Amino acid sequence: MTTDQGIVFLVGAGPGDPGLITVRGKKLIETADAIVYDALANRDLLPPDAKETGLPELFDVGKRGGNNKSVPQGEINELLVRLAREGKRVVRLKGGDPYVFGRGSEEAQALNDSSVVFEVVPGVTAGIAAAAYAGIPVTHRGLSTSVTFVTGHEDPAKATTQTNWSALAKTGGTIVLYMGLKTLPAIAAALIEGGMSPDVPAAAVQWGTRSKQRTVTATIATIAEVAAAEGLTAPVITVIGWPVILRDEINWYENRPLFGRRIVVTRAAAQSTALVDKLAELGAEVLEMPAMRISRLDLTPLRTEMTRLGDYQWLIFTSQNAVSIFWEQLLGSGRDARTLALLAIAAVGPATAAALLERGIAVDVIPERFVAEGLLEKLRERDDITGARVLYVTAEGSREVLREGLEELGAEVIVVQVYRSLRDGAGANKLRRALESGSVNAVTFTSASAVRGYVDAVGEELSLKAPAITIGPQTTEAVTLAGMDLLAEAEESTTDGLVVAVEKAFS
Ligand code: SAH
Repeated sequence: MTTDQGIVFLVGAGPGDPGLITVRGKKLIETADAIVYDALANRDLLPPDAKETGLPELFDVGKRGGNNKSVPQGEINELLVRLAREGKRVVRLKGGDPYVFGRGSEEAQALNDSSVVFEVVPGVTAGIAAAAYAGIPVTHRGLSTSVTFVTGHEDPAKATTQTNWSALAKTGGTIVLYMGLKTLPAIAAALIEGGMSPDVPAAAVQWGTRSKQRTVTATIATIAEVAAAEGLTAPVITVIGWPVILRDEINWYENRPLFGRRIVVTRAAAQSTALVDKLAELGAEVLEMPAMRISRLDLTPLRTEMTRLGDYQWLIFTSQNAVSIFWEQLLGSGRDARTLALLAIAAVGPATAAALLERGIAVDVIPERFVAEGLLEKLRERDDITGARVLYVTAEGSREVLREGLEELGAEVIVVQVYRSLRDGAGANKLRRALESGSVNAVTFTSASAVRGYVDAVGEELSLKAPAITIGPQTTEAVTLAGMDLLAEAEESTTDGLVVAVEKAFS
């Protein structure tokens, strides 16, 4: 294999839980030039900023049970061949295992026909994993000595079927049915007709291994009716056989205390792993607030204003970042804090004020509500704004409220934008969508600055959509000031204490 020749990896993404991809699969995703993925491959497995950066290239060829419009198989095959011929490392990411009802082998044939090199990376198939996450082993000594994976894609009522349902009914082993929701009534009837006892237990598992997993149980005689009555829709795995009874005993996943809850962790990613892992182990779906990066803008305007600080009466900072960039430029130009001696100084919130205090400056004004409106309220009470020249050091895209309000009060405002915040697009959008849909059960905070960072990242409106759980009284104070509902406060101000508070809040 030469390097200028492309290669296609047929990678199993596993059943949904992103932890269930193989080590090999994960590594290939991280080094791919292009990823061609299906509807059932969890989006969280894709590189986080691929959508923004276009690297690797992403191709959504999603198809699900025939409901959604999908890219025809022939076109997918052509796409894979074309990308490989361009010399790319292509990951073809498929739900579950690529060779279990996934048409992976058809793609392999097409690649082989075109002399494209390929590799297969097996995955954890939904038939085994969804069952396990529903508390059902596919075999169990004394209950079932074999398991058959069968597609329900074929209607047994059709004149010619490839599946011998009546033979299957007689094996006495476990049957795992893929794609068989629509055909379930006919399949159940065919199995019973073939000699299966109508008392054999059955379970239907929707979205197995994901936090939205739902399971219904019945017998082979009633499962179709029960699944329909419960409103299950694809993707569903149906398990038929005696091991289903073990669910009563070993249903470990759905019985976790935080199963089905969506919890946001707002700490910086590096510090948050312990909290994230603990909440996930309790069954929660954890949404991590993406880290924000700062990029400096052209600082010439700031440096120009710095040479004439004597013309100003007020200096207002919008954030800690604005303070630190201002300071670096101040010192860089051979000045220091004494240059600010005659200025009145205001900060939009306490973290900004603290950043100034660290540099020897106690602010003159700090609002009660940490938004521009709050600061404006405070400034309105003063008599030294009218006629003043105000230097406002802020971020790109900051709101106009403060400038407009100050101008109304008769001040002359010069705005210098010193940085831009870049968010991890994919993560931020996911979090925003979750908040918008009202599906977030709680947001955890481990510090007052995390509260402000969160409000900053999602915006004030969305920040009010989910209640907070805090690590202690000071963080609670910040939550209250931000107008958020408080669901719980940790009794012990540690990560473990916070986890206990979350668990209690949902027990
Ligand atoms: N290659 C995949 C199966 C693809 S066929 C695998 O090995 O798992 C698509 C069918 O798989 C769906 O209709 C459904 O029956 C099943 N399926 C896939 N993921 C599932 C999940 N998370 N929960 C339940 N069923 C799932």
